[in-house]
Amino acid sequence: MKYCSTRGSAPHLGFDDVLLTGLANDGGLYIPNEWPYFSDSEIRKMKGLSYGELATKIIYPFIQGSIIQNNLQEIIIETYKSFNHSKVAPIRQLKENIWIMELYHGPTLSFKDYALQVIGSIFENILSKNNRNINIVGATSGDTGSAAISSCANRSGMNIFILHPEGRVSEVQRRQMTTVNSPNVFNIAIKGTFDDCQSLVKLMFKDESFREKLNLSAVNSINWARILFQIVYYFYAVLSIGALNKSVSFSVPTGNFGNVFAGYCSKKIGLPISKFYIGSNNNDILTRFFSNRSMIIKDVVPTISPAMDIQVSSNFERLLYDVYKGDHLKINNLMRDFSEKKCFTVDPEIFKKIKSNFEAYKLDDEETKSIMKRTFDESQYILDPHTAVGLGAIDNFPNMLDDPLVVLSTAHPSKFPDAVKSAVGRSPSLPDSIKDLYNLKEDYNVLPNNLDLVKDYIYSNASL
Ligand SMILES: *Cc1c(COP(=O)(O)O)cnc(C)c1O
Repeated sequence: MKYCSTRGSAPHLGFDDVLLTGLANDGGLYIPNEWPYFSDSEIRKMKGLSYGELATKIIYPFIQGSIIQNNLQEIIIETYKSFNHSKVAPIRQLKENIWIMELYHGPTLSFKDYALQVIGSIFENILSKNNRNINIVGATSGDTGSAAISSCANRSGMNIFILHPEGRVSEVQRRQMTTVNSPNVFNIAIKGTFDDCQSLVKLMFKDESFREKLNLSAVNSINWARILFQIVYYFYAVLSIGALNKSVSFSVPTGNFGNVFAGYCSKKIGLPISKFYIGSNNNDILTRFFSNRSMIIKDVVPTISPAMDIQVSSNFERLLYDVYKGDHLKINNLMRDFSEKKCFTVDPEIFKKIKSNFEAYKLDDEETKSIMKRTFDESQYILDPHTAVGLGAIDNFPNMLDDPLVVLSTAHPSKFPDAVKSAVGRSPSLPDSIKDLYNLKEDYNVLPNNLDLVKDYIYSNASL
């Protein structure tokens, strides 16, 4: 299987290089050259498979030609063993026709574990077979950093450097990153915002000689492997509720458009899905797009669902590439508009195509808390604020309830104790995996928002 860039001028690569590279060198995102397809009867035969067996089946066609081809099943099954629920992604019925899929049973309690945990292991396999070393550099507003660190800690062939904005991630999120205590993990608290961290990382990747000297690698949400491994739980959800005779809809809280794009991919390869309901917080660039056909950047505002405090939904470029049927020129033009004018507008017939798959709705913090409260009162179920944004979005579409609906729960409520306390009046209990968190010693360096100093620090601690 080969992959090409949405912008058309980067080299076509196999899975291993796509994984190691992250962003294509023309600024685009990698996407498969051709897509596998699972027929209705093939999907029916998947019923009863464990999460790991199902993942192996779905992922296999996408990694053909990779050096992990023959170890895939072993890597996947080994990885999901570290999750704290035997079903890996259990599903529970909330009310008639509405299910919640809990994607927070990985080591760091957010859905990001479902892809990142496997990625660390695949990295290690590829690197040891190629006898290579890499240095992973990333910026985080909270969940990506802890999931990536947990996945790469104590592995050989790689050091990982995660930049977070000092004082702007929750204490649970910070401790999940800074208490890991592994010689290949380096936490850097930047005196600045998440955007400052992100821009430092981008500048390091732009510096060709630094990038090559250090074999820089990225695990942020533009990496194709993250989308790929998230496709699996959409299949698992439909199989779990046994809804193969009808179409299912999903509601997904969205920031970077990564999670919901994985859902779109699952539909593309055969899963019967009718609609995706997208929830945004006050950073509602996507919701505005779905009502006026234009993507227009505004400033980021802080909310109680901080993992979605994002304005640029990077993975939307992959959707555009698909609906424009691979028209590189068109994608380049739209993306040029976006970076120069902070705005792009899609053609009306393309907009219609997109709208046939997605609806979007915005919830502010008060509305989000009222969904958390209502769900707790009705079902004694505590939602995290991100999941509440997803669930709340569907209230706006009263006609949809003919199809079974699966709400993706993207984080355990204990990661956001303040929001939960203020919404439902009690603190969520801590799962065993993080009970120790407050006793462990933290280790991180504070650095100013200064590119040269950050580069010096990374260079002197790099795996070379
Ligand atoms: C990252 C994250 C999201 C947003 O996911 P995208 O793939 O960026 O759309 C939602 N909820 C939680 C808890 C997250 O950590």
